[in-house]
Amino acid sequence: MTAPRLQIDLAKLHHNARTLVDTLGRRGIGVTGVTKAMLGRADVADVLLRAGVRGLADARVENLSAMRGAGVSASMTLIRSPMLTQVDDVVRYADTSLNSEIDVIDALSRAARRVARPHGIVLMVELGDLREGIMPADLDDAVRHVLRSPRLELAGIGTNLACRSGVAPDARNMAALSALADHVETTFGLVLPRVSGGNSANLSWALSGADTGRIDDLRLGESILLGREPLHRAPLPGLHTDAITLVAEVIESKRKPSQPTGTLARSAFGDRPVTVDRGTVVQSILALGVQDVDPLGLQAPRGVRILGASSDHLVVSGEHRLPIGAELVFRLDYGALLRAMTSPFVRKRVTMCSAHEPPGAPALATAA
Ligand SMILES: *Cc1c(COP(=O)(O)O)cnc(C)c1O
Repeated sequence: MTAPRLQIDLAKLHHNARTLVDTLGRRGIGVTGVTKAMLGRADVADVLLRAGVRGLADARVENLSAMRGAGVSASMTLIRSPMLTQVDDVVRYADTSLNSEIDVIDALSRAARRVARPHGIVLMVELGDLREGIMPADLDDAVRHVLRSPRLELAGIGTNLACRSGVAPDARNMAALSALADHVETTFGLVLPRVSGGNSANLSWALSGADTGRIDDLRLGESILLGREPLHRAPLPGLHTDAITLVAEVIESKRKPSQPTGTLARSAFGDRPVTVDRGTVVQSILALGVQDVDPLGLQAPRGVRILGASSDHLVVSGEHRLPIGAELVFRLDYGALLRAMTSPFVRKRVTMCSAHEPPGAPALATAA
């Protein structure tokens, strides 16, 4: 089979999404399924919808358009503030977008009027992570502006934490968002359809038994796809961490000295690799490189250690020589997954086969 390839197990993705939908549902929180790391694949979108997510969300309007084009008919949210140059596509493909700039909101209103279609605005509030969001003191003005804008509907408020500065969602900042929701509702005499508390990094808070207050939505990508919460990269109980794996093929395997010979300068990517003299080692090369994946985000199978990578080669060590043509199966972190999904050199193979495997089963074995 062609390598490198991402293996996407739809049955495991369904299990992960379903488990999160059920668990959070018991706490009064709905799940918006975030598809951005899947580049808007319709088969993955369908699985998330069958698992019970309330809608789909993506940071790229191209991905929303791809899903619409493939016939996915769900409520769709653009979760990055629209560029002024793309508002026409935004109102065409997204029902709702997350917003923090009045200029963009005005442009969305004009675009929505041109196509005579309503568009939902979720106002994002800055609560400490210093990525997108209106300062809380400016929220009332923004709400007033949306309410006065033709063709726009106030779809809710939201926040995003843990992405730029690593600020953890906790009882304090989530209570602040709840208080803002109450404040907006009483000030303007309306009901906010959605109070969106954040992303997969909110799961520790959401599942801790803390009071979830007014939060009724989380936008989840990584936890569904990789079965982990991003704050500590911890596996989430009951979820598969190998729903998506990366398979690469061995193209060289030899005994070599562990130390390079010659005058040492910089390597292909400008760093000066540190090597320890461990005598002669078995070193193997996989046809996989920086053009395909972020090698730092790979987790090698048991008994295999990643030594280095260049554009097209991943160098690993292990106890035994590997047969040429053997395949190794790696797990990935979110950054590695994004790069592999985006690389035209990495094939994508979708399977539906392993629903019976209990989560956490040792699926790390090499497929030699
Ligand atoms: C990417 C993103 C998400 C999803 O984050 P995960 O950690 O993958 O769950 C949610 N909200 C916004 C605004 C995002 O950009």
